[in-house]
Amino acid sequence: MTVSYEAALQKYEPVFGLETHVELGTTTKMFCGCITTFGADPNTHTCPICLGLPGSLPVVNERAIEYAIKIGLALNCSIASWCRFARKNYFYPDMPKNFQISQYDEPLCTDGYLDVAIGGKTVRVGIERVHLEEDTGKSLHVGGATGRIQGAEYSLVDYNRAGIPLVEIVTKPVPGTGFLAPEVARAYVTELRDVLRTLGVSDVRMEEGSLRSDVNTSISLAGSGVWGTRTETKNVNSLRSVERAVRSEVARQAEVLDSGNRVIQETRHFHEDTGVTTSGRSKEEAQDYRYFAEPDLVPVAPSTDWVERIRKSLPELPSARRARLIESWSLSELEFEALRNAGALDAVEATVAAGASPADSRKWWLGELARRANDSGIDVSELPITPADVARLSALVAAGTLNDRLARQVIEGVLDGEGTPDEVVAARGLAIVSDDSALTAAIDEAIAANPDVVAKIRDGRVQAAGVLVGAVMKATRGKADAAKVKDMILERLA
Ligand SMILES: [Zn+2]
Repeated sequence: MTVSYEAALQKYEPVFGLETHVELGTTTKMFCGCITTFGADPNTHTCPICLGLPGSLPVVNERAIEYAIKIGLALNCSIASWCRFARKNYFYPDMPKNFQISQYDEPLCTDGYLDVAIGGKTVRVGIERVHLEEDTGKSLHVGGATGRIQGAEYSLVDYNRAGIPLVEIVTKPVPGTGFLAPEVARAYVTELRDVLRTLGVSDVRMEEGSLRSDVNTSISLAGSGVWGTRTETKNVNSLRSVERAVRSEVARQAEVLDSGNRVIQETRHFHEDTGVTTSGRSKEEAQDYRYFAEPDLVPVAPSTDWVERIRKSLPELPSARRARLIESWSLSELEFEALRNAGALDAVEATVAAGASPADSRKWWLGELARRANDSGIDVSELPITPADVARLSALVAAGTLNDRLARQVIEGVLDGEGTPDEVVAARGLAIVSDDSALTAAIDEAIAANPDVVAKIRDGRVQAAGVLVGAVMKATRGKADAAKVKDMILERLA
């Protein structure tokens, strides 16, 4: 690509929108009693309804409706008092009925928003609609080199996923974010994922496809006020890819426009390995899905009482939690984002609850523990150390039993499975030497061995005491409190 993202932004303004599909974590499917567990043997979780056999009749899963209403309320949407499912007619091998039950012109939730914090600012992303539908099965192409249908000898279909409840969350177009568009898109999906996880309605595992986003992107000449033609990049399956997909599409469209061509309205595929999109199917002649109201299902009419009960049952949402923690821990927005981006929010909150100060908790989780998690390629939350261990460690440091250097060795011991911080301190003999007579002996030795340094200190060059402190730290194998040792030396030579 010859036009860079940076160059494109000199001339064009990006607008993006996201359609996110979320598999709900209900025990059973949307319209039948088959269970939804991921990873079962192919076609073991199927029945006449989700296989679309003639004469079978669907029944709506009440829990799925409840989850969708929860999502709608958390996204500040209006909840329809009456709406229907619709048939979306198309043929695909992994959809045995030859239609998908979805919602069309009567979605369950409409017109909300989600506030996204980025770089200390807040961007409000409008939510167009939240509707319910059923997932399709999965095709497996066998015999080719790439796992794609091209070059495959035959294909197998697994219907375990067919009929799992899906919620589609569609944003309004998001203009005006300029250079930050790719990051805002990523921050939106991140925030949405946190909201869904907090609600407990989905396991939101992007790598397993339970949360997947289609990214709509368009660009227009800066200041023209006319939006360009948009493309839709399908099934972008990681947060990083959301950002890269917007970035690469903006640059590609700028190149198309700069060379005097027009952007074609089409579906595009994002490639993880190269970070670029390639053309899929053209949408210039929109496919006619011949939607009509699903005749086998009664309308959904959630009562006001039910909706209000669900509203009252909502947990503290990420934005409220952010405001609360920023206030009670006296953080800046950026400090909060650093904690969230490190995945350390829960750990720090639990460590504070276990008695440590917010500052100490942040220091350990963002410092030594983040470094060790990074070295092992895991999340900090996966480290084999508990918030209670970290709180105890802070208490030992605060009490002067450990200095930071010894505390890092204690962390190492806990991570190596040697037990609690107290057990590691005892087993490795790590406590600071606080016994004054032992320190005094080490200090006397250091003074006797360094007469030139002593002379300098007596001349008033106090910083020379560092040499003696170093000698004492060495003699105690790092187990002394350096500040205290320095005070004792200066007192002695005064
Ligand atoms: Zn079934």
